[in-house]
Amino acid sequence: MSKNKRGKALWRMPSRARGTCPICGSTRIKLLYFGQGAQGDKLAVCKKCDGKQAG
Ligand SMILES: [Zn+2]
Repeated sequence: MSKNKRGKALWRMPSRARGTCPICGSTRIKLLYFGQGAQGDKLAVCKKCDGKQAG
């Protein structure tokens, strides 16, 4: 497995893996982890919110 959360792999992602975390609201943070949305869907979240559920 390559490092999907580091280096150039990030730059190939939309918005370079950065954005606003939908759970904690941090802006310009790396969204490389997955939490759960209100409908049980997967959400890209920040490290702090890894595995958390929205709402
Ligand atoms: Zn977060």
